[in-house]
Amino acid sequence: MKSVIIVHHHEITLKGDNRRFFERQLMKNVRTALTGLLPSSSVGGGYGRFVIHLEEQSEVDKIVERLTFVFGLANICVGVEVEQNLDVFCDTAKKLLESQSFKTIRVHTTRSDKKFPHGSMAVNAKVGEALCQHFNVRANLKEPDETINIEIADNTAYVYRAKLKGAGGLPSGVSGKVVSLLSAGFDSPVASWKIMKRGASVIFVHFHSMPYTSQHSVDQVRQITEVLTKYQFTSKLYIVPFADLQNEIVLQTPQSLRVILYRRFMVRIAEEIAHREKAEALVTGESVGQVASQTLRNIRNIEVAVTLPILRPLSGTDKEETMALARRIGTHDISKEPYDDCCSFLAPRKPETWSNYKEIQQAETKLNIQQLVEAAISKISIEHFSFPPKSV
Ligand code: ATP
Ligand code: MG
Repeated sequence: MKSVIIVHHHEITLKGDNRRFFERQLMKNVRTALTGLLPSSSVGGGYGRFVIHLEEQSEVDKIVERLTFVFGLANICVGVEVEQNLDVFCDTAKKLLESQSFKTIRVHTTRSDKKFPHGSMAVNAKVGEALCQHFNVRANLKEPDETINIEIADNTAYVYRAKLKGAGGLPSGVSGKVVSLLSAGFDSPVASWKIMKRGASVIFVHFHSMPYTSQHSVDQVRQITEVLTKYQFTSKLYIVPFADLQNEIVLQTPQSLRVILYRRFMVRIAEEIAHREKAEALVTGESVGQVASQTLRNIRNIEVAVTLPILRPLSGTDKEETMALARRIGTHDISKEPYDDCCSFLAPRKPETWSNYKEIQQAETKLNIQQLVEAAISKISIEHFSFPPKSV
Protein backbone atom coordinates (compact mmCIF):
# COMPACT_ATOMS: atom_id res chain seq x y z
CA MET A 1 0.00 0.00 0.00
CA LYS A 2 1.66 3.21 -1.20
CA SER A 3 0.52 6.75 -0.42
CA VAL A 4 -0.42 8.70 -3.52
CA ILE A 5 -2.30 11.77 -4.65
CA ILE A 6 -4.45 11.32 -7.74
CA VAL A 7 -5.26 14.43 -9.75
CA HIS A 8 -7.82 14.35 -12.55
CA HIS A 9 -7.62 16.51 -15.63
CA HIS A 10 -10.34 19.08 -16.10
CA GLU A 11 -11.36 20.00 -19.66
CA ILE A 12 -8.47 18.42 -21.50
CA THR A 13 -10.36 15.42 -22.77
CA LEU A 14 -12.55 17.78 -24.80
CA LYS A 15 -9.72 19.27 -26.74
CA GLY A 16 -9.20 16.74 -29.57
CA ASP A 17 -5.81 17.01 -31.29
CA ASN A 18 -4.46 19.36 -28.67
CA ARG A 19 -4.85 16.80 -25.93
CA ARG A 20 -1.25 15.61 -25.83
CA PHE A 21 0.08 19.14 -25.83
CA PHE A 22 -2.30 20.10 -23.02
CA GLU A 23 -1.36 17.03 -21.00
CA ARG A 24 2.36 17.67 -21.38
CA GLN A 25 1.91 21.27 -20.26
CA LEU A 26 -0.25 20.21 -17.31
CA MET A 27 2.36 17.65 -16.24
CA LYS A 28 5.06 20.31 -16.46
CA ASN A 29 2.93 22.69 -14.38
CA VAL A 30 2.20 20.09 -11.69
CA ARG A 31 5.92 19.33 -11.44
CA THR A 32 6.77 23.02 -11.22
CA ALA A 33 4.11 23.56 -8.54
CA LEU A 34 5.71 20.84 -6.41
CA THR A 35 9.27 22.17 -6.72
CA GLY A 36 11.07 21.78 -3.42
CA LEU A 37 8.45 19.39 -2.02
CA LEU A 38 8.83 16.35 -4.29
CA PRO A 39 11.19 15.34 -7.12
CA SER A 40 9.60 15.74 -10.55
CA SER A 41 9.92 11.96 -11.12
CA SER A 42 7.26 11.42 -8.45
CA VAL A 43 4.56 12.69 -10.84
CA GLY A 44 3.48 10.03 -13.31
CA GLY A 45 0.98 10.01 -16.16
CA GLY A 46 -2.18 8.10 -16.96
CA TYR A 47 -5.31 8.55 -19.02
CA GLY A 48 -7.18 11.59 -17.70
CA ARG A 49 -5.21 11.56 -14.45
CA PHE A 50 -1.75 11.94 -12.96
CA VAL A 51 -0.53 9.99 -9.97
CA ILE A 52 1.80 11.67 -7.49
CA HIS A 53 3.81 9.21 -5.40
CA LEU A 54 4.41 10.47 -1.91
CA GLU A 55 7.44 9.76 0.22
CA GLU A 56 7.41 8.87 3.88
CA GLN A 57 8.34 12.40 4.95
CA SER A 58 6.17 14.19 2.39
CA GLU A 59 4.32 17.28 3.60
CA VAL A 60 0.91 16.28 2.28
CA ASP A 61 -0.91 19.46 3.28
CA LYS A 62 1.63 21.66 1.56
CA ILE A 63 1.56 19.48 -1.56
CA VAL A 64 -2.23 19.62 -1.71
CA GLU A 65 -2.21 23.40 -1.21
CA ARG A 66 0.23 23.87 -4.09
CA LEU A 67 -1.91 21.65 -6.31
CA THR A 68 -4.97 23.82 -5.69
CA PHE A 69 -3.23 26.58 -7.70
CA VAL A 70 -2.77 24.44 -10.80
CA PHE A 71 -5.24 25.28 -13.57
CA GLY A 72 -6.39 22.25 -15.54
CA LEU A 73 -6.97 20.01 -12.51
CA ALA A 74 -10.57 18.97 -11.81
CA ASN A 75 -9.86 17.48 -8.40
CA ILE A 76 -7.20 16.34 -5.98
CA CYS A 77 -7.57 13.04 -4.10
CA VAL A 78 -5.28 11.87 -1.32
CA GLY A 79 -5.29 8.08 -1.13
CA VAL A 80 -3.34 4.88 -1.64
CA GLU A 81 -2.22 2.66 -4.50
CA VAL A 82 -2.98 -1.03 -4.04
CA GLU A 83 -3.07 -4.23 -6.06
CA GLN A 84 -6.20 -5.13 -8.01
CA ASN A 85 -7.89 -7.41 -5.54
CA LEU A 86 -11.39 -7.25 -3.99
CA ASP A 87 -10.24 -8.25 -0.50
CA VAL A 88 -7.47 -5.68 -0.63
CA PHE A 89 -10.03 -3.02 -1.62
CA CYS A 90 -12.17 -3.94 1.40
CA ASP A 91 -9.24 -3.89 3.84
CA THR A 92 -7.89 -0.63 2.44
CA ALA A 93 -11.28 1.10 2.65
CA LYS A 94 -11.63 -0.06 6.28
CA LYS A 95 -8.23 1.42 7.11
CA LEU A 96 -9.04 4.74 5.45
CA LEU A 97 -12.31 5.01 7.38
CA GLU A 98 -11.00 3.78 10.72
CA SER A 99 -10.99 7.04 12.63
CA GLN A 100 -14.04 8.57 10.93
CA SER A 101 -17.49 8.77 12.43
CA PHE A 102 -20.28 8.24 9.91
CA LYS A 103 -23.67 6.59 9.56
CA THR A 104 -23.98 6.19 5.80
CA ILE A 105 -21.56 5.21 3.07
CA ARG A 106 -21.27 4.90 -0.68
CA VAL A 107 -18.63 3.13 -2.75
CA HIS A 108 -17.89 4.58 -6.16
CA THR A 109 -15.77 2.51 -8.53
CA THR A 110 -14.44 3.28 -12.00
CA ARG A 111 -12.72 0.60 -14.04
CA SER A 112 -10.61 1.70 -17.00
CA ASP A 113 -8.65 -1.58 -16.93
CA LYS A 114 -11.18 -4.01 -18.41
CA LYS A 115 -8.84 -6.92 -17.69
CA PHE A 116 -9.98 -6.79 -14.09
CA PRO A 117 -12.74 -9.44 -14.03
CA HIS A 118 -15.32 -7.66 -11.83
CA GLY A 119 -17.42 -4.79 -13.13
CA SER A 120 -17.60 -1.53 -11.19
CA MET A 121 -21.11 -2.30 -9.89
CA ALA A 122 -19.95 -5.63 -8.51
CA VAL A 123 -17.01 -3.94 -6.78
CA ASN A 124 -19.33 -1.31 -5.30
CA ALA A 125 -21.65 -4.01 -3.98
CA LYS A 126 -18.93 -6.21 -2.51
CA VAL A 127 -16.90 -3.43 -0.83
CA GLY A 128 -20.05 -1.59 0.26
CA GLU A 129 -21.40 -4.67 1.96
CA ALA A 130 -18.11 -5.33 3.74
CA LEU A 131 -18.00 -1.74 5.04
CA CYS A 132 -21.64 -1.74 6.16
CA GLN A 133 -21.06 -4.88 8.18
CA HIS A 134 -17.73 -3.81 9.62
CA PHE A 135 -18.79 -0.33 10.72
CA ASN A 136 -22.46 -1.11 11.27
CA VAL A 137 -23.59 1.65 8.86
CA ARG A 138 -26.04 1.86 5.95
CA ALA A 139 -25.49 2.43 2.23
CA ASN A 140 -26.72 5.74 0.88
CA LEU A 141 -26.00 6.50 -2.76
CA LYS A 142 -27.40 10.01 -2.84
CA GLU A 143 -26.11 11.82 0.22
CA PRO A 144 -23.68 9.61 2.07
CA ASP A 145 -21.63 10.84 5.03
CA GLU A 146 -18.60 9.13 3.54
CA THR A 147 -17.61 7.97 0.06
CA ILE A 148 -14.93 5.48 -0.83
CA ASN A 149 -13.63 5.86 -4.37
CA ILE A 150 -11.91 3.00 -6.13
CA GLU A 151 -10.21 3.53 -9.48
CA ILE A 152 -9.14 0.38 -11.26
CA ALA A 153 -6.42 1.53 -13.68
CA ASP A 154 -3.84 -0.27 -15.81
CA ASN A 155 -2.59 -3.17 -13.65
CA THR A 156 -3.07 -1.18 -10.47
CA ALA A 157 -5.78 0.46 -8.37
CA TYR A 158 -6.27 3.58 -6.26
CA VAL A 159 -8.48 3.97 -3.21
CA TYR A 160 -9.34 7.28 -1.57
CA ARG A 161 -12.02 9.05 0.44
CA ALA A 162 -12.65 12.65 -0.47
CA LYS A 163 -12.14 14.58 -3.66
CA LEU A 164 -10.93 18.13 -3.15
CA LYS A 165 -12.00 20.50 -5.92
CA GLY A 166 -9.14 21.60 -8.17
CA ALA A 167 -8.78 25.05 -9.80
CA GLY A 168 -10.40 23.89 -13.07
CA GLY A 169 -9.80 25.72 -16.35
CA LEU A 170 -7.02 25.02 -18.83
CA PRO A 171 -3.33 24.47 -18.04
CA SER A 172 -1.40 27.72 -17.74
CA GLY A 173 0.57 28.34 -20.92
CA VAL A 174 -1.56 26.51 -23.51
CA SER A 175 -3.43 29.51 -24.88
CA GLY A 176 -0.59 31.93 -25.71
CA LYS A 177 0.26 35.26 -24.11
CA VAL A 178 -1.76 38.33 -23.15
CA VAL A 179 -0.79 41.68 -21.64
CA SER A 180 -2.95 42.70 -18.70
CA LEU A 181 -3.35 46.27 -17.44
CA LEU A 182 -3.02 45.80 -13.72
CA SER A 183 -3.94 48.38 -11.08
CA ALA A 184 -4.11 47.91 -7.31
CA GLY A 185 -7.95 47.83 -7.47
CA PHE A 186 -10.20 44.80 -7.14
CA ASP A 187 -11.09 44.31 -10.78
CA SER A 188 -7.96 43.96 -12.86
CA PRO A 189 -6.36 41.23 -10.67
CA VAL A 190 -9.56 39.19 -10.98
CA ALA A 191 -9.75 39.83 -14.74
CA SER A 192 -6.13 38.68 -15.10
CA TRP A 193 -6.85 35.54 -13.10
CA LYS A 194 -9.89 34.66 -15.22
CA ILE A 195 -7.86 34.85 -18.42
CA MET A 196 -5.05 32.88 -16.78
CA LYS A 197 -7.63 30.24 -15.97
CA ARG A 198 -8.32 29.91 -19.69
CA GLY A 199 -4.69 28.87 -20.22
CA ALA A 200 -3.16 32.25 -21.12
CA SER A 201 0.22 33.38 -19.80
CA VAL A 202 -0.35 36.86 -18.44
CA ILE A 203 2.24 39.65 -18.61
CA PHE A 204 1.38 42.56 -16.31
CA VAL A 205 1.66 46.29 -17.00
CA HIS A 206 1.19 48.90 -14.31
CA PHE A 207 1.13 52.67 -14.83
CA HIS A 208 2.01 54.95 -11.92
CA SER A 209 2.09 58.70 -11.44
CA MET A 210 5.03 58.97 -9.09
CA PRO A 211 6.11 61.40 -7.66
CA TYR A 212 2.49 62.66 -7.50
CA THR A 213 1.27 59.29 -6.21
CA SER A 214 2.95 57.15 -3.59
CA GLN A 215 5.34 54.25 -3.83
CA HIS A 216 2.81 52.31 -1.78
CA SER A 217 0.41 51.65 -4.67
CA VAL A 218 3.25 50.25 -6.79
CA ASP A 219 4.11 47.96 -3.87
CA GLN A 220 0.47 46.83 -3.73
CA VAL A 221 0.66 45.92 -7.41
CA ARG A 222 3.85 43.95 -6.71
CA GLN A 223 2.05 42.06 -3.93
CA ILE A 224 -0.89 41.34 -6.23
CA THR A 225 1.52 40.09 -8.90
CA GLU A 226 3.08 37.80 -6.31
CA VAL A 227 -0.32 36.26 -5.51
CA LEU A 228 -1.25 35.84 -9.17
CA THR A 229 2.13 34.25 -9.91
CA LYS A 230 1.11 31.25 -7.79
CA TYR A 231 -1.25 30.35 -10.61
CA GLN A 232 1.23 30.68 -13.49
CA PHE A 233 4.64 30.15 -11.76
CA THR A 234 6.52 33.01 -13.44
CA SER A 235 5.41 36.56 -14.19
CA LYS A 236 6.81 39.72 -15.68
CA LEU A 237 5.61 43.07 -14.37
CA TYR A 238 6.22 46.12 -16.57
CA ILE A 239 6.20 49.30 -14.50
CA VAL A 240 5.52 52.42 -16.56
CA PRO A 241 6.04 55.97 -15.23
CA PHE A 242 2.99 57.81 -16.54
CA ALA A 243 3.10 61.24 -14.88
CA ASP A 244 4.90 63.10 -17.70
CA LEU A 245 2.41 61.84 -20.24
CA GLN A 246 -0.48 62.79 -17.98
CA ASN A 247 0.94 66.28 -17.52
CA GLU A 248 1.02 66.70 -21.27
CA ILE A 249 -2.61 65.57 -21.57
CA VAL A 250 -3.63 67.93 -18.78
CA LEU A 251 -1.86 70.86 -20.43
CA GLN A 252 -3.09 70.26 -23.97
CA THR A 253 -6.57 68.76 -23.90
CA PRO A 254 -10.07 69.44 -22.49
CA GLN A 255 -10.52 68.43 -18.87
CA SER A 256 -13.59 66.23 -19.41
CA LEU A 257 -11.69 63.92 -21.80
CA ARG A 258 -8.69 63.36 -19.56
CA VAL A 259 -9.46 59.90 -18.27
CA ILE A 260 -10.42 58.62 -21.72
CA LEU A 261 -7.17 59.99 -23.13
CA TYR A 262 -5.15 58.47 -20.24
CA ARG A 263 -6.74 55.14 -21.07
CA ARG A 264 -6.12 55.45 -24.80
CA PHE A 265 -2.43 55.98 -24.04
CA MET A 266 -2.37 53.11 -21.58
CA VAL A 267 -3.67 50.68 -24.19
CA ARG A 268 -1.28 52.05 -26.84
CA ILE A 269 1.71 51.48 -24.54
CA ALA A 270 0.37 48.06 -23.53
CA GLU A 271 -0.02 47.16 -27.20
CA GLU A 272 3.60 48.11 -27.86
CA ILE A 273 4.64 45.81 -25.00
CA ALA A 274 2.37 43.09 -26.42
CA HIS A 275 4.14 43.30 -29.77
CA ARG A 276 7.51 42.96 -28.07
CA GLU A 277 6.29 40.01 -26.03
CA LYS A 278 4.49 38.40 -28.99
CA ALA A 279 1.21 38.54 -27.07
CA GLU A 280 -2.15 38.12 -28.79
CA ALA A 281 -4.43 40.41 -26.80
CA LEU A 282 -4.75 42.99 -24.01
CA VAL A 283 -6.81 42.46 -20.84
CA THR A 284 -8.52 45.01 -18.59
CA GLY A 285 -10.76 44.80 -15.53
CA GLU A 286 -13.46 47.00 -17.06
CA SER A 287 -17.09 46.24 -16.30
CA VAL A 288 -19.83 47.88 -18.35
CA GLY A 289 -21.26 50.95 -16.66
CA GLN A 290 -19.17 50.69 -13.47
CA VAL A 291 -17.64 54.16 -13.70
CA ALA A 292 -17.71 57.08 -16.16
CA SER A 293 -14.86 55.73 -18.26
CA GLN A 294 -16.59 52.37 -18.62
CA THR A 295 -19.80 53.32 -20.41
CA LEU A 296 -20.24 51.42 -23.68
CA ARG A 297 -19.42 54.55 -25.68
CA ASN A 298 -16.23 55.25 -23.75
CA ILE A 299 -15.14 51.62 -23.89
CA ARG A 300 -15.63 51.81 -27.65
CA ASN A 301 -13.63 55.02 -27.98
CA ILE A 302 -10.78 53.61 -25.90
CA GLU A 303 -10.75 50.33 -27.82
CA VAL A 304 -10.20 51.94 -31.24
CA ALA A 305 -6.84 53.38 -30.16
CA VAL A 306 -5.32 49.91 -30.71
CA THR A 307 -5.73 47.02 -33.12
CA LEU A 308 -5.15 44.09 -30.77
CA PRO A 309 -8.32 42.73 -29.17
CA ILE A 310 -8.99 43.95 -25.63
CA LEU A 311 -10.40 41.16 -23.49
CA ARG A 312 -12.65 42.24 -20.63
CA PRO A 313 -13.49 39.12 -18.66
CA LEU A 314 -15.47 41.19 -16.12
CA SER A 315 -17.53 43.14 -18.64
CA GLY A 316 -20.77 41.58 -17.39
CA THR A 317 -19.78 41.05 -13.77
CA ASP A 318 -21.14 42.87 -10.71
CA LYS A 319 -18.75 44.29 -8.15
CA GLU A 320 -19.91 41.83 -5.50
CA GLU A 321 -19.15 38.83 -7.69
CA THR A 322 -15.74 40.29 -8.42
CA MET A 323 -15.04 40.86 -4.71
CA ALA A 324 -16.02 37.27 -3.92
CA LEU A 325 -13.61 36.00 -6.55
CA ALA A 326 -10.88 38.35 -5.29
CA ARG A 327 -11.28 36.73 -1.85
CA ARG A 328 -10.95 33.28 -3.30
CA ILE A 329 -7.92 34.19 -5.39
CA GLY A 330 -6.17 35.94 -2.51
CA THR A 331 -5.97 39.51 -3.89
CA HIS A 332 -8.90 40.98 -1.94
CA ASP A 333 -7.03 42.05 1.19
CA ILE A 334 -4.30 43.75 -0.82
CA SER A 335 -6.76 45.65 -3.04
CA LYS A 336 -8.79 46.62 0.03
CA GLU A 337 -5.97 48.86 1.27
CA PRO A 338 -6.34 52.46 0.15
CA TYR A 339 -4.19 53.26 -2.87
CA ASP A 340 -3.53 56.21 -5.18
CA ASP A 341 -4.95 55.52 -8.56
CA CYS A 342 -2.95 57.16 -11.31
CA CYS A 343 -6.22 58.11 -12.96
CA SER A 344 -7.53 60.01 -9.98
CA PHE A 345 -4.41 62.12 -10.27
CA LEU A 346 -5.72 65.27 -11.93
CA ALA A 347 -9.08 63.61 -12.51
CA PRO A 348 -11.67 65.93 -14.05
CA ARG A 349 -14.50 67.16 -11.83
CA LYS A 350 -17.01 66.25 -14.55
CA PRO A 351 -15.72 63.36 -16.63
CA GLU A 352 -17.32 62.73 -20.01
CA THR A 353 -19.64 59.71 -19.80
CA TRP A 354 -20.58 59.49 -23.51
CA SER A 355 -17.60 60.77 -25.47
CA ASN A 356 -17.66 61.93 -29.06
CA TYR A 357 -14.98 60.34 -31.20
CA LYS A 358 -14.42 63.45 -33.31
CA GLU A 359 -13.70 65.46 -30.15
CA ILE A 360 -11.22 62.85 -29.01
CA GLN A 361 -9.45 62.94 -32.37
CA GLN A 362 -9.45 66.72 -32.24
CA ALA A 363 -7.95 66.70 -28.74
CA GLU A 364 -5.24 64.26 -29.77
CA THR A 365 -4.07 66.46 -32.65
CA LYS A 366 -2.43 68.55 -29.90
CA LEU A 367 -0.32 65.60 -28.82
CA ASN A 368 2.59 63.85 -30.49
CA ILE A 369 1.27 60.37 -29.89
CA GLN A 370 4.22 58.41 -31.20
CA GLN A 371 6.74 60.47 -29.27
CA LEU A 372 4.77 60.28 -26.01
CA VAL A 373 4.40 56.50 -26.29
CA GLU A 374 8.10 56.09 -27.03
CA ALA A 375 9.10 58.35 -24.16
CA ALA A 376 6.98 56.31 -21.73
CA ILE A 377 8.37 53.04 -23.07
CA SER A 378 11.95 54.27 -22.64
CA LYS A 379 11.30 54.71 -18.89
CA ILE A 380 9.84 51.26 -18.27
CA SER A 381 11.32 48.92 -15.69
CA ILE A 382 10.64 45.19 -15.71
CA GLU A 383 10.40 42.99 -12.62
CA HIS A 384 10.38 39.19 -12.55
CA PHE A 385 8.42 36.98 -10.16
CA SER A 386 8.48 33.24 -9.63
CA PHE A 387 6.63 30.65 -7.57
CA PRO A 388 7.49 28.45 -5.80
CA PRO A 389 10.37 30.64 -4.61
CA LYS A 390 13.69 29.21 -5.80
CA SER A 391 14.98 28.55 -2.27
CA VAL A 392 12.07 26.32 -1.11
P1 ATP B 1 -9.58 48.22 -11.12
O1 ATP B 1 -10.28 47.79 -9.86
O2 ATP B 1 -8.99 47.08 -11.90
O3 ATP B 1 -8.61 49.36 -10.89
P2 ATP B 1 -11.67 50.03 -11.71
O4 ATP B 1 -13.05 49.56 -11.63
O5 ATP B 1 -11.08 50.82 -10.58
O6 ATP B 1 -10.72 48.79 -12.05
P3 ATP B 1 -10.63 51.93 -13.53
O7 ATP B 1 -9.74 52.36 -12.44
O8 ATP B 1 -11.43 52.90 -14.29
O9 ATP B 1 -11.63 50.85 -13.05
O10 ATP B 1 -9.75 51.11 -14.54
C1 ATP B 1 -10.26 50.33 -15.59
C2 ATP B 1 -9.19 49.37 -16.04
O11 ATP B 1 -8.06 50.09 -16.57
C3 ATP B 1 -8.62 48.56 -14.88
O12 ATP B 1 -9.40 47.44 -14.61
C4 ATP B 1 -7.25 48.21 -15.39
O13 ATP B 1 -7.30 47.12 -16.28
C5 ATP B 1 -6.85 49.45 -16.16
N1 ATP B 1 -6.11 50.37 -15.28
C6 ATP B 1 -6.57 51.39 -14.54
N2 ATP B 1 -5.58 51.99 -13.86
C7 ATP B 1 -4.44 51.35 -14.18
C8 ATP B 1 -3.06 51.47 -13.83
N3 ATP B 1 -2.65 52.41 -12.98
N4 ATP B 1 -2.18 50.62 -14.38
C9 ATP B 1 -2.58 49.64 -15.23
N5 ATP B 1 -3.85 49.48 -15.60
C10 ATP B 1 -4.78 50.31 -15.10
MG1 MG C 1 -9.00 51.45 -10.58
